[in-house]
Amino acid sequence: MSNQKGGVGKTTTTVNIAAAMAQSGLRVLVIDMDPQGNASTALSIPHTSGTPGIYDVLIDGAPLSEVVQDCPQVPGLTCAPATIDLAGAEIELVPLVARENRLRRAIQTYLDTVGDRPDLIIIDCPPSLGLLTVNAFVAAREVLIPIQCEYYALEGLSQLLKNVELIQLHLNAELEVSTILLTMFDGRTRLAHDVADQVREHFGDRVLRTVVPRSVRISEAPSHGETVLTYDPTSSGAQSYAEAAAEMRRQKGKSA
Ligand code: ADP
Ligand code: MG
Repeated sequence: MSNQKGGVGKTTTTVNIAAAMAQSGLRVLVIDMDPQGNASTALSIPHTSGTPGIYDVLIDGAPLSEVVQDCPQVPGLTCAPATIDLAGAEIELVPLVARENRLRRAIQTYLDTVGDRPDLIIIDCPPSLGLLTVNAFVAAREVLIPIQCEYYALEGLSQLLKNVELIQLHLNAELEVSTILLTMFDGRTRLAHDVADQVREHFGDRVLRTVVPRSVRISEAPSHGETVLTYDPTSSGAQSYAEAAAEMRRQKGKSA
């Protein structure tokens, strides 16, 4: 889940798609790669400084299995938390051996050794294109970009796409921008429709039909340490994320 802009819905989309996928029976692992640790918070995973987390995996080579925790609200959902220590990792990674491959290797070892392998791993990226995001792009097969239906939404996207291309060329030929999700859509405004039209024109059928509306319930859920799917399952926000997850699964079914 990436977009170098902050506040576009990366974390919200990560935790809610993860919860929806877990509720539909998949084993899902969320990897929190943002030092803010917002995904960890939303999933009720302790992540105070010093808690074993993704920092230890990237910098000290700790096994992922030692930091992964169960999400208490959603069976089948686990999370590798981010602590504030991760803020230093962007710089601490620079002199390390295989600095772009550290997350990929950790995930590979985890998948090779853990008993109940996850079916799906979602990595919540920080709002930058630095080494943390590069590690995510090298580890991932797909990039999902949430786009906020606001003015300036498309600004910076070409830079993001260029970075994905560079990673494809040099570090991970498999990587593709597979999915775009329109978030915080306010159907009453002309602007939201214009942005949505523009995004669809540019990205075609990679844009999910489902759009996520602007919803108070979605924004309230994290302060209760919950995803909106458990906090208010019948709300429009919960239903849109469940529908977006179902659409992603149908897409996969088609391409598989
Ligand atoms: P990012 O991870 O890209 O920085 P977040 O997912 O943290 O973005 O979202 C930014 C803010 O917007 C958060 O306060 C979040 O609760 C809120 N938010 C996200 N999606 C919605 C939505 N559909 N409706 C209302 N608020 C939202
Ligand atoms: Mg975030």
